[in-house]
Amino acid sequence: MRAKTKMIHGGITGDEATGAVSVPIYQVSTYKQDSVGNHRGYEYSRTGNPTRHALETVIADLENGKAGFAFGSGMAAVTSVMMLLQANDHVLMTDDVYGGSYRLMTKVLNRFDLDHTFVDTSYPEKVEAAIQNNTKALFVETPTNPLLKITNIKKMSEIAKKHDLLLIVDNTFATPYWQNPLELGADIVLHSATKYIGGHSDVVSGLVIVGTEALAEELHFIQNSVGAVLGPQDSWLLLRGIKTLALRMEAIEKNSQKIVEFLQNHDNVSTVYYPGIKDHRGHDIAASQAKGFGGMISFDAGSGEKADQVLSRVKYFTLAESLGAVESLISVPAKMTHASIPADRRDELGITDGLIRLSVGIEDADDLIEDLKVALK
Ligand SMILES: *Cc1c(COP(=O)(O)O)cnc(C)c1O
Repeated sequence: MRAKTKMIHGGITGDEATGAVSVPIYQVSTYKQDSVGNHRGYEYSRTGNPTRHALETVIADLENGKAGFAFGSGMAAVTSVMMLLQANDHVLMTDDVYGGSYRLMTKVLNRFDLDHTFVDTSYPEKVEAAIQNNTKALFVETPTNPLLKITNIKKMSEIAKKHDLLLIVDNTFATPYWQNPLELGADIVLHSATKYIGGHSDVVSGLVIVGTEALAEELHFIQNSVGAVLGPQDSWLLLRGIKTLALRMEAIEKNSQKIVEFLQNHDNVSTVYYPGIKDHRGHDIAASQAKGFGGMISFDAGSGEKADQVLSRVKYFTLAESLGAVESLISVPAKMTHASIPADRRDELGITDGLIRLSVGIEDADDLIEDLKVALK
């Protein structure tokens, strides 16, 4: 089955019992047992729920994994994956990971003596150099936010195999439609499904997909023990979102290409960051490991004041955090998502005050470009 067909016919489709073509929302906590210990596959909804199970099955299909797991948020997914590790283990992590993952490692999991080092994973040699005796996992996000840095997943997998590390990839920006890290050698893939997979700004959720039975067993043990599961209603919203994921990603890709072209030719825009641009440092790797470049674009408007002006003038781009929805969103990372990073560190990373981040939606590209044209005048 090809990816587009999997989104419609993958996993569990419909309801065996009634013939309903959409998986029903099994809003239930417990299940009648026919006799003690003799149940029909479900006993308690933390352990397993049919709506959640349908979602977990289709996402495993989409990422070509052995099993999928749904969590109450992307951060619940990251936390649960980290629970596979132990005190005094060491994790190598992409240096510009999502802020919440950074906070989890530096302010929460450090309390349990889970050690970490942040490293620019777009340079494989830096990753090898940072490996310690107690390094157990390599956590990579690619592309990253907001500068769309690209890490070579195959290279990371070679390093991980050589040093016996668990390779975990946050695939949120690329989506399972464009990029499948398990096929490139990752052990675990995770998503903030709040973003593209849900796609409609109406659900907070996280998904994890693993490549082996052994990891599936371990992660199910953790999911059931920690209990950060996704509810049936939210699982259903994701099932619904997945049906149009391919169509949305293709529409977003087309719009993004047009917007990038417009921005590159605009006098008031200096740098444009998008992996689809030929001279983007990660372009060749992105082109080789992903089928699309995605809908996240960053560009420099010159100064904080100019960025403010753009933000106050746009009418179709909604000023908001988050990304990956049908509606286009706009933000200034230095003042919003990355405000907690010290100014000198932001400068080092290239996150200037004038940097604007777009999450391109599925509106008519001409309207979006006109909107930016007026705002950039
Ligand atoms: C949003 C996001 C997360 C966290 O997901 P939530 O659903 O907000 O908890 C993790 N990684 C990336 C790349 C994200 O964009």
